[in-house]
Amino acid sequence: MTRPHDEVEANFFIDRINEMYKHDPKTYEKYFGDKTIVEIKDQAIVNTPKPKKKFKLGKKSKRELIGVHPYLSFAVYKAIERVEYDFGVFDGLRTKKEQEKLVDRGWSKTKDSYHLYGLAVDLVPYLDGQYRWTIQQHEDTKKAFENIHTVMKSIIEEYDLPIENGWDLWHWDKPHWQMTGWKNKYDYRKFKY
Ligand SMILES: [Zn+2]
Repeated sequence: MTRPHDEVEANFFIDRINEMYKHDPKTYEKYFGDKTIVEIKDQAIVNTPKPKKKFKLGKKSKRELIGVHPYLSFAVYKAIERVEYDFGVFDGLRTKKEQEKLVDRGWSKTKDSYHLYGLAVDLVPYLDGQYRWTIQQHEDTKKAFENIHTVMKSIIEEYDLPIENGWDLWHWDKPHWQMTGWKNKYDYRKFKY
Protein backbone atom coordinates (compact mmCIF):
# COMPACT_ATOMS: atom_id res chain seq x y z
CA MET A 1 0.00 0.00 0.00
CA THR A 2 1.00 3.61 -0.39
CA ARG A 3 2.12 5.40 2.72
CA PRO A 4 -0.64 7.20 4.60
CA HIS A 5 -0.47 10.97 4.77
CA ASP A 6 -3.27 11.74 7.18
CA GLU A 7 -5.12 10.42 10.21
CA VAL A 8 -7.71 8.44 8.22
CA GLU A 9 -5.12 6.69 6.11
CA ALA A 10 -2.94 6.09 9.15
CA ASN A 11 -5.86 4.34 10.88
CA PHE A 12 -6.29 2.17 7.81
CA PHE A 13 -2.57 1.39 8.02
CA ILE A 14 -2.90 0.44 11.69
CA ASP A 15 -5.79 -1.89 10.86
CA ARG A 16 -3.61 -3.68 8.32
CA ILE A 17 -0.88 -4.04 10.96
CA ASN A 18 -3.41 -5.48 13.43
CA GLU A 19 -4.46 -7.98 10.76
CA MET A 20 -0.82 -8.92 10.35
CA TYR A 21 -0.55 -9.43 14.10
CA LYS A 22 -3.48 -11.88 13.94
CA HIS A 23 -2.49 -13.83 10.83
CA ASP A 24 1.27 -13.52 10.63
CA PRO A 25 2.69 -12.82 14.11
CA LYS A 26 6.25 -13.62 13.02
CA THR A 27 6.37 -10.83 10.45
CA TYR A 28 4.60 -8.54 12.85
CA GLU A 29 7.20 -9.24 15.52
CA LYS A 30 10.02 -8.59 13.09
CA TYR A 31 8.80 -5.18 11.97
CA PHE A 32 6.67 -3.83 14.79
CA GLY A 33 7.27 -6.05 17.83
CA ASP A 34 9.22 -3.43 19.79
CA LYS A 35 6.80 -0.55 19.10
CA THR A 36 3.51 0.48 20.61
CA ILE A 37 0.56 1.14 18.33
CA VAL A 38 0.83 4.89 19.04
CA GLU A 39 4.48 4.88 17.98
CA ILE A 40 3.65 3.02 14.80
CA LYS A 41 0.89 5.45 13.99
CA ASP A 42 3.04 8.52 14.64
CA GLN A 43 5.78 7.07 12.51
CA ALA A 44 3.30 6.26 9.76
CA ILE A 45 2.24 9.88 9.50
CA VAL A 46 5.67 11.44 9.98
CA ASN A 47 7.40 9.20 7.43
CA THR A 48 4.88 9.98 4.77
CA PRO A 49 5.76 12.39 2.00
CA LYS A 50 3.29 15.26 1.80
CA PRO A 51 0.78 15.13 -1.07
CA LYS A 52 2.25 16.40 -4.30
CA LYS A 53 2.03 20.13 -4.71
CA LYS A 54 -0.33 21.23 -7.42
CA PHE A 55 1.00 23.23 -10.30
CA LYS A 56 0.07 26.84 -10.89
CA LEU A 57 0.01 28.90 -14.04
CA GLY A 58 3.02 31.18 -14.28
CA LYS A 59 2.84 34.91 -15.00
CA LYS A 60 3.57 34.42 -18.67
CA SER A 61 0.91 31.75 -19.06
CA LYS A 62 -1.66 33.96 -17.37
CA ARG A 63 -0.76 36.80 -19.70
CA GLU A 64 -1.25 34.50 -22.68
CA LEU A 65 -4.82 33.85 -21.56
CA ILE A 66 -5.83 37.51 -21.64
CA GLY A 67 -8.19 37.96 -24.58
CA VAL A 68 -8.77 34.23 -24.94
CA HIS A 69 -12.36 33.04 -24.88
CA PRO A 70 -13.50 32.42 -21.28
CA TYR A 71 -14.46 28.78 -22.01
CA LEU A 72 -10.95 28.06 -23.14
CA SER A 73 -9.16 29.90 -20.35
CA PHE A 74 -11.53 28.28 -17.81
CA ALA A 75 -10.53 24.83 -19.08
CA VAL A 76 -6.83 25.73 -18.86
CA TYR A 77 -7.13 27.08 -15.30
CA LYS A 78 -8.95 23.88 -14.29
CA ALA A 79 -6.42 21.69 -16.09
CA ILE A 80 -3.36 23.09 -14.28
CA GLU A 81 -4.98 22.06 -10.96
CA ARG A 82 -5.44 18.47 -12.11
CA VAL A 83 -2.42 17.56 -14.24
CA GLU A 84 0.49 15.47 -13.05
CA TYR A 85 2.92 17.32 -15.34
CA ASP A 86 3.53 21.04 -15.46
CA PHE A 87 2.74 22.94 -18.65
CA GLY A 88 2.91 26.46 -20.07
CA VAL A 89 0.37 28.36 -22.18
CA PHE A 90 1.51 29.72 -25.54
CA ASP A 91 -0.01 31.88 -28.25
CA GLY A 92 -3.30 32.80 -26.66
CA LEU A 93 -3.44 35.63 -29.15
CA ARG A 94 -1.32 35.81 -32.26
CA THR A 95 -1.02 38.80 -34.52
CA LYS A 96 -1.42 38.34 -38.28
CA LYS A 97 2.31 38.94 -38.72
CA GLU A 98 3.22 36.26 -36.18
CA GLN A 99 0.88 33.82 -37.90
CA GLU A 100 2.41 34.50 -41.34
CA LYS A 101 5.88 33.89 -39.91
CA LEU A 102 4.78 30.53 -38.51
CA VAL A 103 3.30 29.49 -41.85
CA ASP A 104 6.54 30.48 -43.63
CA ARG A 105 8.51 28.33 -41.22
CA GLY A 106 6.14 25.40 -41.72
CA TRP A 107 5.03 25.42 -38.08
CA SER A 108 1.45 26.25 -38.97
CA LYS A 109 -0.69 25.29 -41.95
CA THR A 110 -3.22 28.12 -42.06
CA LYS A 111 -3.09 31.90 -42.30
CA ASP A 112 -6.51 32.16 -40.67
CA SER A 113 -5.65 30.38 -37.43
CA TYR A 114 -7.94 30.22 -34.41
CA HIS A 115 -5.05 31.77 -32.52
CA LEU A 116 -5.82 35.07 -34.26
CA TYR A 117 -9.29 35.13 -32.71
CA GLY A 118 -8.47 34.24 -29.13
CA LEU A 119 -10.05 30.86 -29.82
CA ALA A 120 -6.97 28.66 -29.46
CA VAL A 121 -4.12 28.01 -27.06
CA ASP A 122 -1.09 25.74 -27.13
CA LEU A 123 -0.42 23.81 -23.93
CA VAL A 124 3.21 22.75 -23.82
CA PRO A 125 4.67 20.37 -21.20
CA TYR A 126 7.42 21.88 -19.07
CA LEU A 127 9.90 19.18 -18.05
CA ASP A 128 13.36 19.46 -16.53
CA GLY A 129 13.35 23.21 -17.05
CA GLN A 130 12.42 22.99 -20.73
CA TYR A 131 9.32 23.35 -22.85
CA ARG A 132 8.74 20.21 -24.94
CA TRP A 133 6.83 20.95 -28.10
CA THR A 134 6.80 17.52 -29.78
CA ILE A 135 6.09 14.02 -28.54
CA GLN A 136 9.21 12.58 -30.17
CA GLN A 137 11.58 14.49 -27.90
CA HIS A 138 11.37 12.23 -24.85
CA GLU A 139 9.43 9.33 -23.36
CA ASP A 140 8.39 11.60 -20.48
CA THR A 141 7.17 14.21 -22.94
CA LYS A 142 4.82 11.63 -24.38
CA LYS A 143 3.47 10.81 -20.92
CA ALA A 144 3.04 14.51 -20.14
CA PHE A 145 1.13 15.14 -23.37
CA GLU A 146 -1.09 12.11 -22.67
CA ASN A 147 -1.79 13.31 -19.15
CA ILE A 148 -2.62 16.88 -20.23
CA HIS A 149 -4.81 15.46 -23.00
CA THR A 150 -6.74 13.17 -20.61
CA VAL A 151 -7.23 15.96 -18.08
CA MET A 152 -8.40 18.48 -20.70
CA LYS A 153 -10.81 15.94 -22.21
CA SER A 154 -12.32 15.17 -18.82
CA ILE A 155 -12.84 18.88 -18.10
CA ILE A 156 -14.37 19.42 -21.54
CA GLU A 157 -16.78 16.57 -20.91
CA GLU A 158 -17.55 17.57 -17.34
CA TYR A 159 -18.45 21.17 -18.27
CA ASP A 160 -19.67 20.41 -21.79
CA LEU A 161 -17.24 22.85 -23.44
CA PRO A 162 -16.92 23.27 -27.24
CA ILE A 163 -13.16 22.64 -27.29
CA GLU A 164 -11.15 20.26 -29.47
CA ASN A 165 -7.53 19.13 -29.63
CA GLY A 166 -5.26 19.48 -32.67
CA TRP A 167 -4.18 15.87 -32.54
CA ASP A 168 -7.78 14.61 -32.47
CA LEU A 169 -8.69 16.93 -35.36
CA TRP A 170 -5.75 16.49 -37.73
CA HIS A 171 -3.44 13.94 -36.17
CA TRP A 172 -0.72 16.47 -35.58
CA ASP A 173 -0.33 19.54 -33.35
CA LYS A 174 -0.70 17.85 -29.97
CA PRO A 175 -0.32 21.08 -27.90
CA HIS A 176 -3.17 22.82 -29.76
CA TRP A 177 -6.66 23.33 -28.28
CA GLN A 178 -9.32 25.33 -30.09
CA MET A 179 -13.00 26.21 -30.20
CA THR A 180 -13.87 24.88 -33.62
CA GLY A 181 -16.63 26.69 -35.51
CA TRP A 182 -16.65 29.74 -33.23
CA LYS A 183 -14.87 32.22 -35.47
CA ASN A 184 -18.11 33.98 -36.41
CA LYS A 185 -19.42 33.96 -32.83
CA TYR A 186 -16.41 35.43 -31.07
CA ASP A 187 -13.69 37.62 -32.47
CA TYR A 188 -11.40 39.42 -30.09
CA ARG A 189 -10.61 41.96 -32.77
CA LYS A 190 -14.09 43.44 -32.22
CA PHE A 191 -13.06 44.32 -28.68
CA LYS A 192 -10.46 46.74 -27.45
CA TYR A 193 -7.98 45.38 -24.94
ZN1 LIG B 1 -1.98 26.07 -31.81
